[in-house]
Amino acid sequence: MKKISTLKILLMITILVTGCIFSADAQIEIRSNHPQSLPLVDGSTVAIDPSKGYLIKEIKDKVYYATDGIYQVMFILTSTGVVAVDAPPSLGGNLLKSLKEITDMNVTHVIYTHPHPDHIGGAALYPGNPVIITSEGTAKDLRRHNLSEGMIPFGAYVGGKPVPLPTKTFSKKMELNIGGRKIVLLTSGSAAHSGEDVIVFLPKEKIVMMVDIVFPGWIPFEQLAYCQDLDGYIDIQRFVLKLDFDVLVPGHYSKLGTREEIDQNMEYVDDLYSGLSDAIQKTDFASVVAKTGMANIHLMMEDYFDVIARKTSSKVEEKWKGKLSGVDVWSYSNARKLIPYVRESAADVPKRQ
Ligand SMILES: [Zn+2]
Repeated sequence: MKKISTLKILLMITILVTGCIFSADAQIEIRSNHPQSLPLVDGSTVAIDPSKGYLIKEIKDKVYYATDGIYQVMFILTSTGVVAVDAPPSLGGNLLKSLKEITDMNVTHVIYTHPHPDHIGGAALYPGNPVIITSEGTAKDLRRHNLSEGMIPFGAYVGGKPVPLPTKTFSKKMELNIGGRKIVLLTSGSAAHSGEDVIVFLPKEKIVMMVDIVFPGWIPFEQLAYCQDLDGYIDIQRFVLKLDFDVLVPGHYSKLGTREEIDQNMEYVDDLYSGLSDAIQKTDFASVVAKTGMANIHLMMEDYFDVIARKTSSKVEEKWKGKLSGVDVWSYSNARKLIPYVRESAADVPKRQ
């Protein structure tokens, strides 16, 4: 009994942390720190017919994306079948329903962009045992975590279950030629959002899918898009900008992105960096100690970090309000995530070159 209630609490925390709620609970009480949050910026969302619950749209030359407003999947039609990139479980039955709107062909290949269940947890819904492709790093991660046992089974917070394991893996780069379509899979060489994020590049159509890094029209998701490595988070954006593309499929929310929106994301991160650097240099640590005292060291440091993060986020919010949605919601969280990087390494990185 005790185990069940602990599991329930952990699941609730996970749902809150991810911001993804997939079941209605009338008892739940929503806490909001932002009752006066800023309005969304025009153009940061695309309308979705609520009676359908999803949108499917051609990006270019029979390459489509489908979205439920929170997650995105990409479908690449070839002459011999469909290549699906990811399988967000939030779309559920709408994964196949949306596909049916555009073709009767089967999914022959599935590409996993990274090992997180909220993006690939619906992969078992694709019938007929498609070939499943990902990077060696993502495959390794999945072999470790893709379990049905344990405190929280893989993907439980999104109603998922273990996903089919990859049947084909690559290191650094793989070129696929499927039914007349050229698809290039790449990794940037370091951990970024996950241990090894896969970039899907269609050179002829000039489309890139890079997931959980940039949220076009929005600031990054909390804690800087949960990036595992900040240098890697910057590097992957630089890496992608070297490719010849003009449409970004970001994996999240309703809209697609542009090269300029990746630049904008880098500029926002730069502003957090320079804001923190400035705040660290101008905040008198001794004044914080004088107020909080030194007996509770955790509290003393928390107060110091809080002062620095608030100074930074208020400056960044002022610059970006009206330009990016959510700037008032998670700039503080993003600044907090960056504090150790700025404190522990050179304060003027990253430069965006
Ligand atoms: Zn992720």
